[in-house]
Amino acid sequence: MIVVDWNDIQVSGSKSGNKKALCPNCSHTRKKKTDKCMSVSFSLGKAYCFNCGAVSFEDDNRQSYTEKVYELPKQDWQNFTALSDALVKWCEEVRGIRQSTLMDFGITEEKQYIPQVQKEQNCIVFNYFESGVLVNKKYRDGRKNFTQSKGGKPIFYNINSVVGAEKVYIVEGEFDVLAMYQSGVKSVISLPSGANDNDDYWTNSNEYLSDVKRFVIAVDTDEKGLIIREKIAHRLGKYRCSFIEWKGKDANDDLLSGNILESIKNEKTFPVTGTYNAFDLSTQINELYQNGVPKTIAPQKTCFGKLGDIFSTLSGQMTVVTGIPSHGKSNFLEWYVLNLIDEFELKASFFSPEHSPMEMHMANFIQKAVGKPFYADIDNVAKCTPDDIQRFIEWSKERLYLTGGGTGEVVDWDWLLEKFKEQLFNFGINIFVVDAWNKVQMPKGLSGKDGIDQTLTRITAFCQQNNVQVYLVAHPTKMKKNERGQYELPQLYDVSGSADFRNQTHNGFSIYRHFGESADEQSTDFFNLKTKFSFQGKINDCVKFRYHMPSGRYYVDGVNPYTFDLTESGKKEAIDFVEEIVITNNFKPNEDFDFTPSKDCPF
Ligand SMILES: [Zn+2]
Repeated sequence: MIVVDWNDIQVSGSKSGNKKALCPNCSHTRKKKTDKCMSVSFSLGKAYCFNCGAVSFEDDNRQSYTEKVYELPKQDWQNFTALSDALVKWCEEVRGIRQSTLMDFGITEEKQYIPQVQKEQNCIVFNYFESGVLVNKKYRDGRKNFTQSKGGKPIFYNINSVVGAEKVYIVEGEFDVLAMYQSGVKSVISLPSGANDNDDYWTNSNEYLSDVKRFVIAVDTDEKGLIIREKIAHRLGKYRCSFIEWKGKDANDDLLSGNILESIKNEKTFPVTGTYNAFDLSTQINELYQNGVPKTIAPQKTCFGKLGDIFSTLSGQMTVVTGIPSHGKSNFLEWYVLNLIDEFELKASFFSPEHSPMEMHMANFIQKAVGKPFYADIDNVAKCTPDDIQRFIEWSKERLYLTGGGTGEVVDWDWLLEKFKEQLFNFGINIFVVDAWNKVQMPKGLSGKDGIDQTLTRITAFCQQNNVQVYLVAHPTKMKKNERGQYELPQLYDVSGSADFRNQTHNGFSIYRHFGESADEQSTDFFNLKTKFSFQGKINDCVKFRYHMPSGRYYVDGVNPYTFDLTESGKKEAIDFVEEIVITNNFKPNEDFDFTPSKDCPF
């Protein structure tokens, strides 16, 4: 890792935005001495040379800001420069990676305890640099076991190469980064933990990636790779992504078979915006023909009865939820969304200023998720235990997010939709809930019916462009009573201020509570007010629910409401962390083995 002094970089004009400059390290040695190969980002205070890989930063200790505190590895990586012959030969002959590439990336060779085999092994070490700071180390032994330094900062591998880049490639492993680099692609990063998607490395890489115009997702061509490709595109927004389908398994495979440049050239786009003919859409048309209309989303558990038959949704849709105040529309929606994220592996974000403070809002979710009261025993149901709460925290931490109003001021739609975009990137949210419409102000300059209509248009466009769902709780303004003095079921036309609540929304439902004397007379009815496509449900149909007081759950007659716990199914895959790491001062590479060129790594 070559680090050049920030003050040695000369740019013309103002020191702001992204600039190109000569590289103090390599420009004077190059044939094209005037080629500005160094990219400087003044907003990040970082620079990267696309020719020699040198980095520079304005402030030595400046890492990107994070709320979490990371325990960084010892900053002694510069000492690990000697690589054994065996490792260099293996990389060259089995992986097709040249020694100069290994040097450019500061790759080292060290002994490390590997939990999978319970002993110390000689490892190739991928050092994760952010500017000149070593933020994480990933160890790989000869049997493809991985481990990494405990408490290191999760971030994309080779994040420095993103500084000032217009187009960034994303691959699945470190060897793929090296393969791409050798083929001339310099701005390339890899997921730090293979096909595992988690929030931390996205949050930590946010400031680097947010201004990048184009991404090319070049992950592995296998089943897991397809899933992760979708997840990455979802976070980044498909409109700025394209993808590569490797001929072999991954970039490294295609480097070995000599196909890498051709694969890179065959970049494919996601259909989102633009102009298409039937040929462009042939994959989608065939899928529709083979599988019929797309699968809709609705809770499947028996406590929801036939709800899925009368009402369901699709990604990219907006759903308006209405009902008379105190009839339980928020409560029902929370139960509904909790089950969707559980059954379909989705992530939801709630903006519910009416339900502050947030810990009390979370207490509602805990009751529903574990099926027990939070504060005290109710009707012989014991309150949840500290273990239940801990399990919920684990289960929900990468599924359920609450959005606060920031400074405590009233927020407007400009702020909220911007916030949602940020959450989409950082957390990969699929469902946004706004509870309620009247808690968010019109953007400046908009008001009245026109303002409402324009805002609704923006929300529906947001859903479609990002392939997410928005559930918008909206109170009715007009509440009519029938002859018996009971309120009538609110319709979408009754929602505040505009017929567009009916016209623009894709879907809508109403929650209506019957307050009877006996338990039999009490129910909460779900009415389908609108579904965009006929296969999504039956407009005006209704399902009757009972309310389970101890847990806050809704259930249909004849079903026990608390036989299951949502938090007990949510085990997630995780990369193995080193239990206790001692970075050994093993500066000398291990020479104890023979080199035999084979698919198995010899070191
Ligand atoms: Zn350079």
